[in-house]
Amino acid sequence: MKVERGAVIVECVRGDIARQRDMEAVVNAANAQLRMGGGVAGAIHRAAGPSLEQECRPLAPIRPGQAVITGGHNLPNRYVIHCLGPVYGMDEPADELLASCYRNALRLAESSGVKSIAFPAISTGVFGFPLEPAARIALKAVLAELPGLSSVKHVRFVLFDAHDLRVHSEILEELAKGN
Ligand code: ADP
Repeated sequence: MKVERGAVIVECVRGDIARQRDMEAVVNAANAQLRMGGGVAGAIHRAAGPSLEQECRPLAPIRPGQAVITGGHNLPNRYVIHCLGPVYGMDEPADELLASCYRNALRLAESSGVKSIAFPAISTGVFGFPLEPAARIALKAVLAELPGLSSVKHVRFVLFDAHDLRVHSEILEELAKGN
C-alpha cells in the first residue's frame, strides 16, 4: 500500500527493518537502555554490530516517547533513530507517548537532512500495544507531520508479517481517503 501526499510517499511493506537498503534512516523500537534486546532492537543491533551499542551508551537512558539518533554502523543505512515506545498498561498516556515516538523520530530525521525513513510497528511486540490502535496512532501521527517536512520525502512502515501489513495498509488507505 502506497500513498502520495504532496511530495512525500508513505507506504507499508512486509519485511525486516534491518534489511532496508534503500532507506537513509531506520527506526529502532528501542529499550530505555538502548541495548540489544529482542525483536526489532535485536535485529538492528545484530546487523549493526557492537559499535552501535557503544555509540548508544552515553545517550541512555531515554524516556517513553523520546527519540535519539546514531550512525548506522554495519547496517545499510546512514542513521538509526532509536525510539522508546510506551509499555502498554504501564506508561501513560500510552496513545500520546506512542504518537510522540513517530513525531520525534520524523523531526529528528528532518533536522538531520534525512530523505527516507523506515519505521517498525513500535510497542506492538513485547511492549504489548494492541496492533490496530497502534497502527492508527502511528499512521495518523505521520500523516499529520507531513506538511512540516521538507527534507523527508519517503516514509516506509516495515511490517513483519502478512496480518500486520494488512492492518496497516487498510488504515493507511482509510486515513488517506479521509482528507
Ligand atoms: P516493542 O518492544 O516496542 O514492542 P518489538 O521489537 O518487540 O518492540 O516489536 C515491535 C514490532 O516489530 C512487533 O510487531 C514485531 O512483530 C515486529 N518485529 C520484530 N522483529 C522485526 C524485524 N526484524 N523487522 C520488522 N519488524 C519486526
